[in-house]
Amino acid sequence: MKALILTAILAVSLLVSCNTKTKETENNTTEASANSSELFACPMHPEVTGKKGEKCSKCGMELTEPVTSKKMEDVKSTETKTDVTTVTQADYTTDIIISYINLKNRLVNDDSKGAADKGKVLLASFERFDTKTLDAKQKKEYLDIADDAKEHAEHIGDNAGKIDHQREHFATLSKDINDLIKMFGTKQKLYQDHCPMYNDGKGAIWISETKEIKNPFYGSQMLTCGSLKKTL
Ligand SMILES: [Zn+2]
Ligand SMILES: [Zn+2]
Repeated sequence: MKALILTAILAVSLLVSCNTKTKETENNTTEASANSSELFACPMHPEVTGKKGEKCSKCGMELTEPVTSKKMEDVKSTETKTDVTTVTQADYTTDIIISYINLKNRLVNDDSKGAADKGKVLLASFERFDTKTLDAKQKKEYLDIADDAKEHAEHIGDNAGKIDHQREHFATLSKDINDLIKMFGTKQKLYQDHCPMYNDGKGAIWISETKEIKNPFYGSQMLTCGSLKKTL
């Protein structure tokens, strides 16, 4: 019981350190204690954490995924820019990608309201993008992608409670994100996944930060439907 409480306290302090800007010293101690506690998460249920070797309370799988203090989910879009002195195109793209991934994960969880919130965040990420350093050709290419993507992000943001509608927009949005990555590259390893069933069997792609398949078009209905197409 004592260990449980301790774990809970650590988890909370970990969350706090992710979400707020604590002082340097506080941060260090939190990180140090986090390392020694070594939390692991279920590969299918990232919200379920515990010690290595323990079983997931939802599906019984072994907890094998190390929980780092910078979980994607908790990375605030703006935080990606606070540590860099020169904001490059790649930073804007990273901001967009993080917002997209957070949106994708809400759809994986069948969380329509959360997806709407993240759609709005994604729209804001696109609006922050600075095209000043792009040449005319790049700028046109970027705006073609961004204008379309912003419309989809906006519809997703405006349709909380209508997850099927959000997922339709998400399918085209994912193509835009894929094009954006083709144009600017990506700082982190990403995966292009493919669902063969979506859109009456025409299929659809999505971009993921994890190698394992978690289908955002069907969520819990068909979570593992799909395959890894390529590493980006
Ligand atoms: Zn699980
Ligand atoms: Zn719509």
